[in-house]
Amino acid sequence: MAKKITIAIQRKGRLFESSKELLIKSGINFSTSGGKLLARSSNMNIDILLVRDDDIPSLVSKGVADLGIVGKNVLAEQAANSRKISAKSVLNLGFSKCRLAFAKPLTSKIKSLNNKVIATSYPGLVKKFLKKESINAELIKINGSVELTPYIGIADCICDLVSSGATLEANNLTEFKILMDSEAVLISSSSLKNLKDKTIIDLVRRFEGVINAAESKYVMLNASTNSVNKICKLLPGADSPTIIPLQEKNKVAIHALCSEPVFWETMEKLKSNGASSILVMPVEKILN
Ligand code: ATP
Ligand code: ZN
Repeated sequence: MAKKITIAIQRKGRLFESSKELLIKSGINFSTSGGKLLARSSNMNIDILLVRDDDIPSLVSKGVADLGIVGKNVLAEQAANSRKISAKSVLNLGFSKCRLAFAKPLTSKIKSLNNKVIATSYPGLVKKFLKKESINAELIKINGSVELTPYIGIADCICDLVSSGATLEANNLTEFKILMDSEAVLISSSSLKNLKDKTIIDLVRRFEGVINAAESKYVMLNASTNSVNKICKLLPGADSPTIIPLQEKNKVAIHALCSEPVFWETMEKLKSNGASSILVMPVEKILN
């Protein structure tokens, strides 16, 4: 029997739904009802640990979980603070995208971070950034509601997670520098090229297949033989399209797996270059 694999995901919060969806789409069936902390997959030898996101890097570093899903921001902050965090990111998952950014009050005139007081929940990353940029500033660690600190007079600016920017706007703050871009990542105790366990490697490949499929589209269209070259060049991220003869003379069907988004603009360009009956279809899974 294959070795049991343990995967740690966030129990509730911004990462939960997409993490669960990724596991289910990768063929791991499980139920999370009843607020339990451990879910057993009903069809694979896999346990799912449901925990706070902050605990995921250390659970994976200690080997309690083989894989985990966490924000790149949390992994980077914990790695900046402790040598014990050895977990590595093995796959960008494309969801929960945000950025860690500096923001100041709209009315603020500050031009540089030098000699300023910065409030943040990410002191490790901010300290590293300030050191790299040779900036001398004071840090205040705050665990929540960081955006209120300039108004209660304890900080000149903040460094916090931003996604749409609506929270900053609601608090009359304006972003002025990005420290890092973040998204959910799959982490494991060693880097992808050092992973030894075949069951884990296969599982990472499955996740990759689901992520790649989410961006990919299968495109089918008809075209005249003399426009084939032009049309193939317009297909975004297509590897090697299939050209199939049609009953009508001098006409072919072109089928291609496009690894990049196919926008309406691309379809219109294809049409103006002689393509007709353009179909764009979703792709469920890809195994390269
Ligand atoms: P937990 O209770 O598990 O500790 P939390 O409150 O620390 O949860 P969430 O608010 O659920 O965490 O955010 C989890 C992750 O979602 C963040 O670490 C970040 O990677 C990502 N995220 C995406 N957009 C945002 C945003 N606008 N604000 C905060 N986090 C965001
Ligand atoms: Zn958390």
